[in-house]
Amino acid sequence: MVAFISLNKTYKSEMKSPLKNYIYFDHSATTPVLPEVVKEINTCFTDFFGNASEPHMPGIKAKEILERSRESMARTLGASPEEIIFTGSGTESDNLAIFGIAGAYRKKGNHIITSAIEHPAIHLPLEKLSGSGFEVTYIPVDKYGIIDPEDVKKAVTDDTILVSIMHANNILGTIQPIREIGSFLQKKRIIFHTDAVQAFCKIKTSVNDLNVDLLSVSGHKIYGPKGVGALYIREGTKIMPQLLGGGHENGIRSATENIPGIAGLAKAAELGQKRLAEKSSKIVEIRDHIKNNVLKNIDDVRFNGHPTLRIPGNCNFSFKYIEGEAIVLRLDQAGIGVSSGSACSSSSGKPSGTLAALGLTEEESQGSIRITLGFENTIEEADYFLEVLPGIIADLRKISPLYKNPGIS
Ligand code: PLP
Repeated sequence: MVAFISLNKTYKSEMKSPLKNYIYFDHSATTPVLPEVVKEINTCFTDFFGNASEPHMPGIKAKEILERSRESMARTLGASPEEIIFTGSGTESDNLAIFGIAGAYRKKGNHIITSAIEHPAIHLPLEKLSGSGFEVTYIPVDKYGIIDPEDVKKAVTDDTILVSIMHANNILGTIQPIREIGSFLQKKRIIFHTDAVQAFCKIKTSVNDLNVDLLSVSGHKIYGPKGVGALYIREGTKIMPQLLGGGHENGIRSATENIPGIAGLAKAAELGQKRLAEKSSKIVEIRDHIKNNVLKNIDDVRFNGHPTLRIPGNCNFSFKYIEGEAIVLRLDQAGIGVSSGSACSSSSGKPSGTLAALGLTEEESQGSIRITLGFENTIEEADYFLEVLPGIIADLRKISPLYKNPGIS
C-alpha cells in the first residue's frame, strides 16, 4: 500500500476498507452506495420482504414501500407517480424505451433518429431494429461532442416515430440541447426519449423542462444500488411491454418488484437532489484544477469534450503516443482509479466510437482516459493525482515506439 503514499504526504480518503487509501475517480462507471441508502435497503430485506402483489400484511407493507418510492422518484423528476416504471437497470430502461415505442408505433412509421454517440444500450437495440424494417438516422456531433438541434429538425420525416438523444454523454460528459430538441418534437408530436443515466443527480433533470416523453435512469450511477433503474413514460404514451408475465408495473414490466433495490434507488435520488444543489460547484472546482494543471504540465495532451457544457465531474484527456489502458493500470498501482474510454466498453479493447465521432484519430482515442469525480473527492486527492501523472506519462512514452525520445536516434 506504499504506492498510495505521495512523495511527501499521505492522503486521507473517505473510501471505506478495503479501499481505505484508494482514490476513486471513476464515478461514471459506478458510485459507492451511501450509508443512508444501505440502511434503507437493509430495512427492506429484514422488515419488508413481502411480495408487493400479495394482499396480506407483509405484501401490503412491501407495496407501501414500492408506492412511496415511486412517489419519491416522480418528485425528483417532476413527474406523476403513474409515469414511473421501475426496471432492472439503465440498460433495461433504454431497451424498453426503444423496443417498446418501436413495437407500439410500428404502424405509424418506421423511422427513428438518434445521435452518433449514444451508449450501446441504445445503439444495439437500434441496430437490431434496422435489421427488421426500421430506418435509423444517426445525427453527427461537433468537435465538442454536441449535436446541432437543426440536424434533428432536418432529419425528421413523416415516418419518424421516435427520437432518442442522451442527456449527458458517458465518456465526455457533454450535455446535449435536450430542451430545445424536445420543444421542436413536442410541436411535431414525435416521441422523444432521453438516456439520462449520466445526467440524473448531476445536473437538473426535470421531464417538463426537458420536454421529453421518456427518460431513463440507473441506481448505481447516483450512489444507489446496482441492478435497478427506472423509466419515466409520459402519460398517454403507448409502450409495448418487453417482459411478459404477472403484469407488474401496470403490465409494462412483469417481474416481482425488487423492493430493496427500488427503495434504495428512490433514497439515492432524493439525496442526490440535495447534493446537486450543495456540492456541484466544489466538484467543478476540482475538475477545473485537474484540467488546468494537466494541460499546463504535460505536453501533447488534448482535453476532449466541451469546456463548460459538461457534467460537473468529467475530465477526458487524450495523451499522444501511449495507450489509455496502460495509464489506467499505472494509476491503479499508484492507488488511483480512473477509466480508459467508457467502463461499459473498455473491456472490448476497441477504441471508443464516441471519440472517433469527434474527429479523433484511432491513436488519439487509444490514448484517452476518463476521470469522473464524485462528491466525496477532495482537492488533496486531485493534487496527488497531478503529482503522479506526469511521471507515469513520461515513463510510458519512453517505452512507446511512437514517441521520439530525445537523445535516441
Ligand atoms: N446509459 C448510459 C449513458 C450509461 O453510461 C450506462 C452505464 O454506464 C447505461 C446506460 C447502462 O446503465 P446500467 O449499467 O444501469 O445498465
